[in-house]
Amino acid sequence: MIDLHTHTTNSDGTDSPHALINKALSAGIKVLGVTDHDTTSGWEDAIRARRADLHLALGAEISCLTDDGVAVHMLGLLFDGQNSQMQIMLEESRDSRLPRMRKMTELLTADGIDISLDEVFAAMPEGATLGRPHLADALVAKGHVASRDEAFADLLHNGSKYYVTHLAPTPEDAIRTIRSAGGVAVIAHPFATRRGQTLSAMSFPSLIEAGLNGVEVDHRDHSQDERQQLRGIAGDLGLVITGASDYHGTGKLNSIGENQTDPAEWERLESMADARRVVTE
Ligand code: AMP
Ligand code: ZN
Ligand code: FE
Ligand code: FE
Repeated sequence: MIDLHTHTTNSDGTDSPHALINKALSAGIKVLGVTDHDTTSGWEDAIRARRADLHLALGAEISCLTDDGVAVHMLGLLFDGQNSQMQIMLEESRDSRLPRMRKMTELLTADGIDISLDEVFAAMPEGATLGRPHLADALVAKGHVASRDEAFADLLHNGSKYYVTHLAPTPEDAIRTIRSAGGVAVIAHPFATRRGQTLSAMSFPSLIEAGLNGVEVDHRDHSQDERQQLRGIAGDLGLVITGASDYHGTGKLNSIGENQTDPAEWERLESMADARRVVTE
């Protein structure tokens, strides 16, 4: 089983890298992608926790914004974690999440949904990439909503009046940075319409020109129709097709391994990195 997209407490997942790896092992995963939002800070712990024949594809899920303001997630896998251009891009994005979060708490509070930045910090594991899920957890702790899901549905979704963007590269810039750091770029859940406005098929040629390698097709936020469309695009453009759980621990319903990547597709993707970086020993 190959699951190339998961999160830990280094971003908005609820399992530590160690706990994630234990779950992957019990689920029978052979290749696990560790892809926290805008950070590589979980890599070391994941490497330490790895056991037996579980192979690690280390990476990050990079938050991007198109020039038209559409939020896009780009998975970077198998890049050189020491690459400075990459680390600067990730750091700039993380840094801007603080003023963004302050703004969101101010907008909520002004509207009678009282929540402070300190309360959000209290809901965030140390060192994690600060995100809306931590704000959601703070709203749950304060009794404003019952769950992360309800917080997103009512208050925090991309179309909400409380939603504020943070600094983010364009998808093309993210792809170019991933590739120049030697890794491979896979666009995450590109047609997940329930998250808000998404890319259209027309954006793919420009992503390909930037160096896109693959597309995440099998993801719980894609309908069968959306998967079919994406399979067609991938076939036409020669993109690798992946499937993944986007596991977040108890933060979301997604269970580890619920969607998987075909071994032949994974082999093709891995061969597109500039070095063999899968952690196997
Ligand atoms: P942010 O990066 O701060 O904009 O937060 C976006 C993240 O929130 C996404 O990457 C998801 O991991 C998470 N998210 C989005 N919708 C939901 C939801 N309904 N329930 C829980 N987490 C969600
Ligand atoms: Zn997430
Ligand atoms: Fe995502
Ligand atoms: Fe994700």
